[in-house]
Amino acid sequence: MAYTIVNSYIPTSLHPLKAPYTMVPEYITIHNTYNDATAANEIAYMTRNTTVVGYHVAIDDKQAIQAIPFNRNAFHAGDGGKGNGNRKSIGIEICYSKSGGPKYIAAEENTVEYVAHVLKQYGWGIDRVKWHRDWSGKKCPHRIIDEGRTQSVKDRIAERLAELSNPLQQIAEDEREVDEMAEQLPQTQKDDMRALLKRAHNEKVFSVDHTSKVDTMTRGQATDLLISYVARTK
Ligand SMILES: [Zn+2]
Repeated sequence: MAYTIVNSYIPTSLHPLKAPYTMVPEYITIHNTYNDATAANEIAYMTRNTTVVGYHVAIDDKQAIQAIPFNRNAFHAGDGGKGNGNRKSIGIEICYSKSGGPKYIAAEENTVEYVAHVLKQYGWGIDRVKWHRDWSGKKCPHRIIDEGRTQSVKDRIAERLAELSNPLQQIAEDEREVDEMAEQLPQTQKDDMRALLKRAHNEKVFSVDHTSKVDTMTRGQATDLLISYVARTK
């Protein structure tokens, strides 16, 4: 994932049309553009057309472009003038959804990253993430829905949020795994390991008898021997 965050705000003269209300956001709403335009072209189109329709951010494989500040509403959710989607949610468009492919995959990955950062910034959980469909029933984001990935995309966002929220925990978990590999085997596993190594030697899988090493063997060394054993037997 790699993207540049770009601010390309619509002129304030367009606020009465596209972003007429102040907003204290409570949700994030995810869309698919249903076309193959870049984020820059998507924003340019939104800015020049004279409809009320708008959204806050468009994300492609290279950029996350913000057009409307998060303290103003945008009409993207199809739930009317007073709906929570249109009045309390940050609208995010994932580009290149019509044809899909690598550029869409990168755009979606950038969106996962971006949304996780916004959740972190507001101190929100994954429950704040909505699909356009949740507000109005429209089949959007069409590609994520068609591919049956509404849960997995949310899971990816939640996972990334957890990493952002507690980087020290991630490091601690990694270190714990390293420590475990340096530990000696518990007694029951020592007995099993000894039996396995004896058999391996008897069957001539290992030319050396390793059984005497079991008492001082680390989990890492045991794992290495197991890999060799499995690799050399059918
Ligand atoms: Zn939508």
